[in-house]
Order: sequence, then structure tokens, then C-alpha cells
Amino acid sequence: MTTAKSCDLLVVGGGPGGYTTAILAARKGLHTVMVEQEHLGGTCLNRGCVPAKALLEDSALVASVRNCSFMRGDLTLSLGRMVDRKTRLVETSRAGIAGVLGECGVEVVAGRAHFLGPRRMSIQNAENDLTLEASHIVLATGAQTEYGPGLRPDGRCVWSTDDALNPPSVPRTLTVVGAGNRGVEFATLYRNLGAEVILIEQQGRILPRVHSELADRLRKSLTDRGVKVYVRTALASVAPADTGGVRLTLQTAKGPQELQVDRVLLTGSRRPARADLNLQAIGLSAAADDPLSLDDGVETPVKGVYVVGDASGPPYLAHKAIAQAMAAVDHILGRNDGRQSLLIPNCIYGDPELASVGLTEEQALNAGHRIKIGEFHFVGNGRAGTLGKEEGLVILVSDAPSGRVLGVHMIGPRVTELIALAALAIQNGLDVTAIKKTVFPHPALSETFFEAALATHNESIHMRMEAEELGPE
Ligand SMILES: Cc1cc2nc3c(=O)[nH]c(=O)nc-3n(C[C@H](O)[C@H](O)[C@H](O)COP(=O)(O)OP(=O)(O)OC[C@H]3O[C@@H](n4cnc5c(N)ncnc54)[C@H](O)[C@@H]3O)c2cc1C
Repeated sequence: MTTAKSCDLLVVGGGPGGYTTAILAARKGLHTVMVEQEHLGGTCLNRGCVPAKALLEDSALVASVRNCSFMRGDLTLSLGRMVDRKTRLVETSRAGIAGVLGECGVEVVAGRAHFLGPRRMSIQNAENDLTLEASHIVLATGAQTEYGPGLRPDGRCVWSTDDALNPPSVPRTLTVVGAGNRGVEFATLYRNLGAEVILIEQQGRILPRVHSELADRLRKSLTDRGVKVYVRTALASVAPADTGGVRLTLQTAKGPQELQVDRVLLTGSRRPARADLNLQAIGLSAAADDPLSLDDGVETPVKGVYVVGDASGPPYLAHKAIAQAMAAVDHILGRNDGRQSLLIPNCIYGDPELASVGLTEEQALNAGHRIKIGEFHFVGNGRAGTLGKEEGLVILVSDAPSGRVLGVHMIGPRVTELIALAALAIQNGLDVTAIKKTVFPHPALSETFFEAALATHNESIHMRMEAEELGPE
């Protein structure tokens, strides 16, 4: 049966980009409909950030107990219970999102949406075919994973990240293909659980888009923990092995190399998911690599149609989706020009963690800044000592003449929490002196950020660190 209705705002996709848009718009009194073809919470909640971090956290506990010097006896891991905890967390969080959407008066429709015209979409599900007219439409359809030619997860020996989040058992040997954020995270997770892990990356280093000194340090940490890391190595083909598992052909700098493992995890690459939207009906390109919005804005060239989150292209991060959702609602309400902040922290979850925001030293110099670099190492931090996690450092890049913070790059324990301090400082144009004037609790990991600010003026307390000054006079 086909029915038709209208609303102020139609949001397509119920991930962080979509539900943030819907909640904020409905709170401002817009009659909002959100359509989701699968589960509320999108990739982030159902098969990304949340389940991956739940398993990673539990795996770190397993590794800590196994490596603990003052406890004895064999402890048995119940992988099933670990996976159950993750699944329960996802389900309760999903219910939580449904609750908030309901409280705000967002109408949630199950189904898949595609355009019929500029302000008109069809929503199809098993029972209904609904046509919706909307004054504004926000596309938050996320991204899909693409794999190299001839490579496809099969759910048995060749895993996708979805499979790796629901393992029936811990493989004895696992090759993780791709050393980006997800590859490093899964390599850490499975190493913590006791698998022999090989991490391969086709580029010259792991985390190719991350601050190179920190990426090198993380590589050393992974290697020290027993992960084998192969760079300039690509997976060419996968075939079943006679003895079970898979036979991999790797393309290395020295030529082809064979490897046999129990499981291989393909992390793939992410591309905006737009193919099903029939964007041609409103004159937009469906090609994943074409920008849908212009000038860092969230509105597309079609007035009243917005794109947020992974559907808008890289970086593929949930907090970028949320920031864009906020920018889109503000634009719809006439409160901004539809541009989003470009200051998006990047976090890599593992052990240690890595987090970065703003300019690297190199980027700051290329932008013509004369810079000061303040550094502080976790080995001089009391809280890191109490946690037994003294590996890592904080690098604070500031503009030398003004003292304004330009970028902060961290590797160490829980730096994915600390990086928000740096984002707050940069976003609000704070200078190093403002950080120095702030009282940080002791003992706390956040003191490393404070000490990096002190180090910028050669004043660090718990370690002698000389600041470096570079760039044009
Ligand atoms: C393993 C993994 C780990 C990750 N870890 C992190 C992390 O730690 N931190 C981080 O910031 N990011 C992480 N990400 C990325 C993060 O999940 C995404 O950036 C985030 O989910 C993007 O939000 P979104 O709302 O744009 O899209 P999504 O969350 O993908 O939501 C899009 C939704 O739209 C729905 N949809 C698509 N097309 C239609 C249609 N035509 N009609 C109706 N519904 C439709 C989909 O079903 C989906 O639910 C991870 C991703 C993966 C895969």
C-alpha cells in the first residue's frame, strides 16, 4: 500500500550523524522523520566504535591478568561471555537511542529511502511504500567497506570486521590486512587474547595518515608485544589451505611470499554509501569519490538537501558525523553558514593509545608558522606510574610569537580521553600560558598535557625537557 505524508525534516540513516540531526532538530520543534533500513545506532553502535571498544577493553583486562606478576594460577577465558557483554551493551544502547528519539518526538520509520525528486523520497519496507515530502532532507547513510580485487570476506576463514566482532573462538594465528585505525585496533585486540598476529600494510609505515613519530612508536609497541608488522606488503590472494585455515599470497618488496594462517581479517577501505539513494533524481552524482557538499559545508548544491557523516566522505569518524549533524541543524534553523569545524581529533585505540588534533610540526611549518615544540613523556607522570603504563609522550606544537596552540599529538595510556583538552584549547584559540595557568589534578594523566605546556617555556616540573623552536624568523 502506498501512503503519502509530509514533514519539516527527513533524516535518512539512524547512525550518529542521523540520530544527532533528528534529536537536535526535533528538540527545536521541527516535525522530524528519521528512516533507518537496519538498526538504530548505525555502524558506530552496531558494528563499529562501541562493540570494538567493548571487546578491546575486555581483551586488555585478559592481557593484564595474564601478564600480572603478582597473581598465580591459570585463568580460563570465556570468549562467549565476553562477546555477550558486548552484544548486551549494543542492545541497551540501541534501546537508549530509541528512547531519546521517542522523547523528542522523532518519528522513526523502518525502511530504505530513495529520491523521487528534490524534496520527495520513497521509503520502502516489507509492508509499506511511503512517499514523504520534506522541507529539508539530511542524508546520513554512512559508508560501506570495499575490498581489493578478488578479496571478499566469507565469514569463516576470511573475516570482515563484523566477523571479528563476533568470533566463535580465538584463532591461533591471524593476519590483519591494513594497518589503519581499525587494523591496529583489531591486531591489539586479538594479540591481547593470545593470537599470533601478523599486521600487514601496503604503504611504507603503519597508520600512514598519522604523525610519523607516534606511528613509529606504536609500531615498536606492537612489535614488543609480539605482533609481527610487515610494511610495503599487500595481500594479493587468499586460498583455502589443505590443513584448514587459509593460504595467503603476499606481495612484498622482495617479491611474492606465501603465508598460512587460521584466519585473515580484511579491514578494507571505506567509501560513502550513496548508491541506493537515486541521487540522479535530484541532479547529484552518486559516485562515492565526488564531493556532495562544497567548501566544507554540509548543504549540497541542491538547496535544503544536506549530507553529514561518512556519507560526506573522509574522515570516517563518528564525532565528525556528530559535528556535521550539529552544523546541519544550525543551518536549517538559520543559525550558521553550514560549515563545520575542521578540527577533528583522530584516535587510535590500542595499547598504548594514540590521539592527535590540529597541525603537526611539519604542517605548521608548511603553513608558515614559526613554532615551539613542548614535549613531556609519560615516564615522568605519577598517575602513569601507578597504572604501570609509562610508555608514551605528549607533543604540543604552538605558534612561537603568539603562543597559540596549533596541534597536540599524544601516545600513551588513555590519550583518547586527554585529546579533548587539546581540542578545547585549539578550538578556542588558547595560548600555552592559559594552559599553564590552569590547575590540573594530581596524580592524573592529564598532567602530561600541562607539563608539555610548561615544557614549551622550559619550565616542566617532573622532567627536564628543552623546548625546540623552528621555522622562519
Ligand atoms: C570496526 C569499526 C570501528 C570503528 N571505530 C570507530 C571509532 O572508534 N571512532 C570513530 O569515531 N569512528 C569509528 N568507526 C567509524 C564510525 O562507525 C562511523 O564514522 C560512524 O558510524 C559514521 O556515522 P554515520 O551516521 O555517518 O553513518 P553510519 O553510522 O554508518 O549510519 C548510517 C546508517 O544509514 C542507514 N542507511 C543507509 N542507507 C540508507 C537508506 N537508503 N535508507 C535508510 N537507511 C539507510 C544504514 O543502515 C546505517 O544504519 C568505526 C567503524 C568501524 C567499521
